[in-house]
Amino acid sequence: MTRDNVIVVGAGPTGLVTALGLARAGVDVTVLEAEPAVVDSPRAVVYHWAVLDGLDRVGILDDAIRTGFTNPELCIIVLKTGEKIRLNINALAGEVTHPYQVHLGQDKLAAIALQHLLRFPHARVRWSSRVVGLRQDGAGVTLRVNTPAGPEDLEAGWVVGADGGHSTVRQLLGLRMDGMTWPERFVATNIRYDFAQYGYAPANVVIDAPYGAIVARIDHAGLWRCTYCEDDSLPEETILERMPAYFNVALPGGKDYELVQYSPYRMHQRCAERMRAGRVLLAGDAAHITNPTGGLGLTSGLYDAYVLYEALAAVIHGEAGEAVLDLYSQERRRAFLEHASPEASNFKRMVYHAKSDAELEAQLAGFRAAARDQSLQRLIFLTAKKLETPSLVRRPAP
Ligand SMILES: Cc1cc2nc3c(=O)[nH]c(=O)nc-3n(C[C@H](O)[C@H](O)[C@H](O)COP(=O)(O)OP(=O)(O)OC[C@H]3O[C@@H](n4cnc5c(N)ncnc54)[C@H](O)[C@@H]3O)c2cc1C
Repeated sequence: MTRDNVIVVGAGPTGLVTALGLARAGVDVTVLEAEPAVVDSPRAVVYHWAVLDGLDRVGILDDAIRTGFTNPELCIIVLKTGEKIRLNINALAGEVTHPYQVHLGQDKLAAIALQHLLRFPHARVRWSSRVVGLRQDGAGVTLRVNTPAGPEDLEAGWVVGADGGHSTVRQLLGLRMDGMTWPERFVATNIRYDFAQYGYAPANVVIDAPYGAIVARIDHAGLWRCTYCEDDSLPEETILERMPAYFNVALPGGKDYELVQYSPYRMHQRCAERMRAGRVLLAGDAAHITNPTGGLGLTSGLYDAYVLYEALAAVIHGEAGEAVLDLYSQERRRAFLEHASPEASNFKRMVYHAKSDAELEAQLAGFRAAARDQSLQRLIFLTAKKLETPSLVRRPAP
């Protein structure tokens, strides 16, 4: 007999939002997470206006805003000249429900989704449970899971692999992750520093080769994220020794900062060859990874979650055929390969590697024009919407 429960592998934001959407649709769902709690390494902080409707649909937007804060401003800063070009998502006011971005650490967003998920009697999360094996047939999937009590086999009708860039689920399926790895690493730092005093907005793109950065306020208590980039061939063990030299140049008022947390990341542009293999679906970083310039990584993962939980619930409830899951794979790969990945790559080039003053000037001219013209600003902010896939089960009649 076919089983109709779902196991989601990975309690990151993609996995927990997918699980929450399934639980709200009445599906029995179990989340398996290798770590003992939500992982809190410094990663996503800023959520584009375009993903907020989806957070609202699963009921967590209000809590996300209460825990973090909203911000409509984006400032483009040219480090060498000090020029600041200010854009404002208010250009979309009256046209979209949430004309602002939300700032909060992705661990906090995951914790909110978790709290909401555990309110459902048919939802559960098992911590310290690492998936190490997978086999499937026409009726379901059996996962081998290493738990503190020893190995265990768990059965599900469907599995969602949302287990991040190194996805074990993807590897167990034997799926290729096509693409490239950048020769630089990113260093994400959480620092206390009074950026606001120097005219920084809550979200900033600081353009410079080689001292560019993405600078975003994380909370109301003076904590900021500053993500910079360095050659990946430099030794990872000596990042802390090189960091003061970077901040000496990159911080507007000099070196008086407090480092709270930091983490290095290798960067890739890669996409799984398929996001469905039988009864197993991939979502989030498990399916596609991008360098984070422009904040399109988790944006893509959330867009996966929004269409996947709805499509999978419809299949389980007999309201849609399984072909909708192939459509999921096809459409989400297309959104990543045609929009998220090239846009993040262009953005990375602009922020960290402008090759000549002329090239940079041409890009800045576009932003300067937009700062003066609301209709151009509107077009810039609408690009985040291109990454979205509309509902795969509630399609308007042709
Ligand atoms: C410096 C930096 C800044 C970023 N900023 C932004 C931003 O502002 N906006 C944005 O949209 N994106 C941003 N991103 C990208 C974003 O962090 C990722 O896209 C996001 O983490 C993907 O979430 P996920 O849930 O798919 O995967 P993850 O967050 O990686 O979660 C995967 C989970 O699966 C668990 N897991 C792994 N293997 C197993 C297993 N075998 N069994 C069980 N569990 C397992 C892991 O422990 C983890 O909890 C940034 C990334 C970096 C590095």
